[in-house]
Amino acid sequence: MANIIKVQKGTKDILPDEMPLWHKMEENARKIFSNAGYNEIRTPVFEATELFSRGVGDTTDIVNKEMYTFEKSERSLTLRPENTAGVVRAFIENGMHRLSAPVKLWYKGPMFRYERPQAGRQRQFHQVGVEMFGIKDPSADAEVIQLAAAYLNSLGLNDLEVEINSLGCPECREEFKNKLKTVLKPHFNLLCEDCQKRYEKNPLRLLDCKVGSCKEIFDKPEIKEVIQGDFICDECREHFELLKQYLAALDIKYSVNKLLVRGLDYYNRTVFEIKSNNLGSQNAVCGGGRYDSLVKNLGGEDTPAIGFAMGMERLYSLMEPVNAEKLDVYIVSDNKAETLKLVKYLRENNKSVDFDFNSKKFTKQMEKASKIANYAVILGEDEISSGTVSVKNLSTSQQITISRAELISSI
Ligand code: ATP
Ligand code: MG
Repeated sequence: MANIIKVQKGTKDILPDEMPLWHKMEENARKIFSNAGYNEIRTPVFEATELFSRGVGDTTDIVNKEMYTFEKSERSLTLRPENTAGVVRAFIENGMHRLSAPVKLWYKGPMFRYERPQAGRQRQFHQVGVEMFGIKDPSADAEVIQLAAAYLNSLGLNDLEVEINSLGCPECREEFKNKLKTVLKPHFNLLCEDCQKRYEKNPLRLLDCKVGSCKEIFDKPEIKEVIQGDFICDECREHFELLKQYLAALDIKYSVNKLLVRGLDYYNRTVFEIKSNNLGSQNAVCGGGRYDSLVKNLGGEDTPAIGFAMGMERLYSLMEPVNAEKLDVYIVSDNKAETLKLVKYLRENNKSVDFDFNSKKFTKQMEKASKIANYAVILGEDEISSGTVSVKNLSTSQQITISRAELISSI
């Protein structure tokens, strides 16, 4: 026997019996986001590598360790690890800044990161997300967070915690970074290897280090004081205060987490995460924030923006199973020609229908019908000779014999 080729580590088949929940995630996204004025966009799965090194940031784990990068015709290409950079590229390339603000877009699709696979962490996974361009006002931040919450609620997920933080603007953040570096300097040698690199390149990113020994350092009183201190400038503070007021008005419960800096370089001011208490250590279902300088950094007109992305596999694992939808009709018969004709007729009339290819015994066919369909349509010799059908309602067990013309309206 030939070797069996297996699915790649960190990737998964999504099988037919998992589809009802995937369809629900997709349909609810389309419904809820389009009701809020978001239009769907689909960007390519691979892009120029430079889009991510500039767009996501070359001090991030994603760009440094996790990208699937390959060469073709001397061009460096990368499978998208996230979709914000791609959406921003499309926004710029298609001149969408000329549209009246806000420009609201949503997407869903596969993303690729070379990570260590574990529960809630795959190498090919799916995200659904939104991006809103052109609005600086904190009401945009509130709307986007509200939209995330509404979508999660629509999937039946309620036991969630919203965490927010403000990263300030490049100006006020600079001062904070310097303070942070000063207090951390005496402990530099105790920081993990990654954090020692971050110390120079991107000290803010130190704060979301998951290594225990680093966390201990951040807990030291003199360092905690800096981290928990209020570094943001007046304008950034007003933005954050207004956001909090709007969230309160929307009845969205949140907590401020000063360690929340998010993995990507492009954020400023508002960042947020939504976590579930029912997932293990990979407990973030949604991450997002404001990225006012990204459009300009990637060569577009200066355009403020904010968005979020959710991990669909993590949403899936939190959703209650739904029953697969039943067929309208299962045909019970041993006459193939008549059955095929009736199947064709029913499908032309938009009824979902199936039948038994193997001409099993009537009782077997009936058993199958009651499992997968709402009605059994029986085509025995009597029915065929008289041009009728017997229709059995499988939930009430009532059976009637009617003409074929009456069939469509009675199921
Ligand atoms: P994490 O802290 O879990 O690594 P992240 O900050 O890298 O998340 P983002 O880039 O913000 O994640 O992506 C948004 C969401 O996408 C996450 O909250 C998570 O639900 C999901 N996600 C991210 N990476 C993976 C992965 N490797 N496998 C499955 N889902 C993922
Ligand atoms: Mg990650």
